[in-house]
Amino acid sequence: MPTSEPHRVPGHRAAPLPVVDPATAEVFDEAPDQQPDTLDAVVDRSRRAWHRWRADPDARTTALLAAADAVEAAGDDLARLLTREQGKPLAESHAETARTAARLRYFAGLAPRTRRIADGRPVHSEIRWRPLGPVAAIVPWNFPLQLAAAKFAPALAAGNTVVLKPSPFTPLATRLLASVLATVLPEDVLTVVTGREPLGAGLASHPGIRHVTFTGSVPTGRAVAGAAAASLARVTLELGGNDAAVLLDDVEVDRIADRLFWAAFRNCGQVCMAVKRVYVPARLHARVVEALAERARTVTVGPGLDPDTRLGPVNNAPQLARVEELAQRALAAGARAAAGGHRLDRPGWFFAPTILTDVPPDSPVVTEEQFGPVLPVLPYRSLDEAVDAANGTGFGLGGSVWGTDTDRAAAVADRLECGTAWINHHAELSLAQPFAGVKDSGVGVAGGPWGLYGNLRPFVVHRPEEGPR
Ligand code: NAD
Repeated sequence: MPTSEPHRVPGHRAAPLPVVDPATAEVFDEAPDQQPDTLDAVVDRSRRAWHRWRADPDARTTALLAAADAVEAAGDDLARLLTREQGKPLAESHAETARTAARLRYFAGLAPRTRRIADGRPVHSEIRWRPLGPVAAIVPWNFPLQLAAAKFAPALAAGNTVVLKPSPFTPLATRLLASVLATVLPEDVLTVVTGREPLGAGLASHPGIRHVTFTGSVPTGRAVAGAAAASLARVTLELGGNDAAVLLDDVEVDRIADRLFWAAFRNCGQVCMAVKRVYVPARLHARVVEALAERARTVTVGPGLDPDTRLGPVNNAPQLARVEELAQRALAAGARAAAGGHRLDRPGWFFAPTILTDVPPDSPVVTEEQFGPVLPVLPYRSLDEAVDAANGTGFGLGGSVWGTDTDRAAAVADRLECGTAWINHHAELSLAQPFAGVKDSGVGVAGGPWGLYGNLRPFVVHRPEEGPR
């Protein structure tokens, strides 16, 4: 399977989109930089393909199962290219390609249920489910394949076609994925477009698109919702998070420290539902800071393709600058770095895994989403104070509570204003569960059957009861 091909499509700008390896900061390949005026033809082909694709649910199931097999067969090539452009350790890229295949297989097996409703009158209503049309899927750079599949698998299973736009930082693995899927899916059922803005804005506002499903930051999510308003397309937004982990006074620090560390630092902290703030009872604070700092100081940081690496680089230069700025602002305001606090002196976009203590609670590294390898650990005196602080940002994606008495922890978790709460772990998801943020973290529901119905519309037929009248 080629990992690089000559990228020549009509409508791309003269200068292609360079793709940087974050482990070296060097350009290693390129992708087409398509312009918004190419979208008319793309969406038109997608609409034509939709009329065929929607007609045969059994053929869809067969094709999506074959798609899952094809992704697995190409897993090594996909994972290497993903690590090259995204930076994550190769083992995590393999896990991501496996989850991409798993999503295809899961949604291939789901079908909407036709229901009849009788209300005592001599008519009944039959509720059927119909696909929407071409769906625009716009995704970020932290999990390019897995998040794309979270959108296109349910959309395709529901009988829609999809135009998928990856981040300009990570277009290559997605293009390879599309070429793998093209061997088993009918033409134009899934189309990948790549390029800089305003390509995404053009896609979100395109009149032929009937559902815009977007994952990314809150400000871009607002812009996407505004763009889709022009055509009144359905909008699903999976946006940023600032998840708090609240440790209770009966927590066993040594038992949970590894799990807590990786809940914050997996994928270099670039996870929407990573732990981004830790609240600790004051008397345990120093122990928790030291347990996390010890792991931050000793974890192997390096290029994702190096088999010893557990933590790779930040994906891109603007994100590295943001992470550095947030850490420096906290340090300037009186915080202390128990580990890290600076860029690493090596090529590439590396930032030392950082544990911050003595952080002012109104510091932007606490109130905003850092999305990188920097974790503030804050002491609390009363549980009410901790819950208020956990709920005290505009975000509401996830949260977790950690303690030995899990019933008590669950009662505290019940008070968190978020879409998913975990006890003694964080960010674990099942394919079968709904996934939805509250407040600024999102609109609509993804995951499980809810994700399928999010790509369907009800169609109701009223008819008289059968039999003599
Ligand atoms: P981003 O919002 O900058 O970009 C996301 C995507 O939108 C990219 O493909 C980008 O090219 C495109 N885009 C940019 N401007 C656009 C516009 N005006 N109209 C349409 N599309 C546009 O986000 P990012 O920096 O790539 O990703 C990080 C963010 O994603 C973080 O906030 C993170 O929390 C969030 N995220 C959320 C989830 C979730 O499920 N809730 C999952 C992963 C990441």
